[in-house]
Amino acid sequence: MTIYNLTLAELRTRLDSRELSAVEVTTAYLDRIAATNHEINSFITTCNETAMAEALAADQALAAGDIAPLTGLPIAVKDIFNTTGLPTTCASNILKNYIAPYDATAIARIKAQRAVIVGKLNMDEFAMGSSNENSAFGAVRNPWNFKHVPGGSSGGSAACIAARQAAAALGTDTGGSIRQPASHCGVVGLKPTYGRVSRYGVVAYASSLDQVGPLTRDVRDCALMLQAIAGYDPADSTSVDTPTPDYQASLTGDLKGLRIGLPQEYFIEGLDSDVRKAVAQATATYRELGAEIIEVTLPHTAYAVACYYLIATAEASSNLARYDGVRYGLRAGNAENLIDMYMQSRAAGFGTEVKRRIMLGTYALSSGYYDAYYLKAQKVRTLIRQDFLNAFEKVDTLLAPVAPTPAFALGEKVNDPMQMYLSDIYTIPANLAGTCAMSLPCGFSTEGLPIGLQLIGKPFDEVTMLRTAYAFEQATEWHKRKPEF
Ligand code: GLN
Repeated sequence: MTIYNLTLAELRTRLDSRELSAVEVTTAYLDRIAATNHEINSFITTCNETAMAEALAADQALAAGDIAPLTGLPIAVKDIFNTTGLPTTCASNILKNYIAPYDATAIARIKAQRAVIVGKLNMDEFAMGSSNENSAFGAVRNPWNFKHVPGGSSGGSAACIAARQAAAALGTDTGGSIRQPASHCGVVGLKPTYGRVSRYGVVAYASSLDQVGPLTRDVRDCALMLQAIAGYDPADSTSVDTPTPDYQASLTGDLKGLRIGLPQEYFIEGLDSDVRKAVAQATATYRELGAEIIEVTLPHTAYAVACYYLIATAEASSNLARYDGVRYGLRAGNAENLIDMYMQSRAAGFGTEVKRRIMLGTYALSSGYYDAYYLKAQKVRTLIRQDFLNAFEKVDTLLAPVAPTPAFALGEKVNDPMQMYLSDIYTIPANLAGTCAMSLPCGFSTEGLPIGLQLIGKPFDEVTMLRTAYAFEQATEWHKRKPEF
């Protein structure tokens, strides 16, 4: 038995029966990270010392019978979550030496269960990107093929699960940043409904879109992680005070009476033939499992990318105004006056893509252009949300591709931001609508790269979405494949 190949659920059984200790499990993962990170570059920080201390504490809790679902389980987190005592860089030079004085709520919740945090994961700078190439700490390589990107912005989170460097990871999804890398790396990734999980202590990118969610090896583990982080938090005013359902109990495998919608606007020109085939096969599997497949329409889909890149950049330009070299982060050394210090600090600290977005967002918000761009985008957003609500009158969940192609090659799109933005076409609408969505493995390309299936659920109905995902996983073997290296 190779410890690092076990799922969260399998590790749980072995920890509870004392077949394994948390220290053994943690050591296996830290060794795995040490042996593989030079090839994948998924970790910005590994925290061997604190991880071993947490593992010891978990073993004591296990011995005392004080066991929570995540006690002793090795988890890695995107470097966008504030973690007491460890650097939180957001993959930016401007936060390179930043150490947060508090834990994000999602971190506090997994720590309260005595999970073991093994490290902080690479990402696109400030979560802006779809390939993880916009990181001040270098690109992440796709564990299935080192010449390809892992996707982004939670590229390190997805790659570390595929590479068996942690049993589960936390990421964030503003326009697809959990689902798209999960799809490209052949793992499960879930973006909860906006308001389901607290973002307190998570570095803000576009606050009306950002959500925290898990990346795991299978659907059961995904439900386990969601259970741990979901729920109202008075410290995040957008978190919704609604009961958290029992997600494990939703994994029945039963699809009787379930209506699945195929949005016709998602099966258009530009969709790679391998992706099209894999998604069609998944649809056939669902039909065999007893679900009813219904064509639906989301008529405003074509405007989603444009709408998103106005709203997200506008919010980013405002959120990133706080990095001015005064309170924390990088400060330029030889400025002549205050304005000069702001300008030099920001010029030195931010990468090219972040600067592009700050400029785009500032422009969209400027007087004279606000109505034409930002306000218009807000109106389009409402139409997109309404499309989903109309579709959900007829179906329980939607089925779609995650990305138009499998993982593209490193360097392929870096000089063409428009092409990069267009790769988010199928993930962005769920963020604009605020609803839940997930990616799960559904096949491989002829080149051997993973392909993900997207399920989009009704707002706050992660239960039905997880039930739908689990039934597919039970009927297929895709999630069991792993990259060999
Ligand atoms: N790729 C999208 C962007 O660059 C989404 C990123 C995200 O979800 N954080 O904005």
